[in-house]
Amino acid sequence: MIKISVRDISSKGLDIDQSVPMEGIGLTAEEVDIRSLLSVKAHLEKVDGFIIADTRIKAEFGYFCARCLQELFKVEERSYKFDFELTDGIECIDLGEEIRQEIIMANPPKVLCKKSCKGICPKCGMNLNIEQCQCA
Ligand SMILES: [Zn+2]
Ligand SMILES: [Zn+2]
Repeated sequence: MIKISVRDISSKGLDIDQSVPMEGIGLTAEEVDIRSLLSVKAHLEKVDGFIIADTRIKAEFGYFCARCLQELFKVEERSYKFDFELTDGIECIDLGEEIRQEIIMANPPKVLCKKSCKGICPKCGMNLNIEQCQCA
């Protein structure tokens, strides 16, 4: 949860800069592979009955190479723009929940450990980046 109190957002807006573990916004290891803290930077502003949150996250994501299945890590930055309706009596908003949904819905990109990855041999399963097998 990244709880933001509506009254803390002044006419100039509010900037936040936090690092949270992925569990802190309700993500589990089954849903996503994040190896670092999640850095969350956001600028929030009240505009015409809404809170607009320009949000930037940065974290190290874990993947498997699409060809050879080797594990690899990539630091990625993603930007989001969220809006929250300022309904009567609303006291706080949860930016963490919005980020959680975006991360879950994002399709994992197909990543390769390197452009020239040779993959694994379909016959013997050897990682051809490490060794050339004897299969024809
Ligand atoms: Zn690979
Ligand atoms: Zn082989």
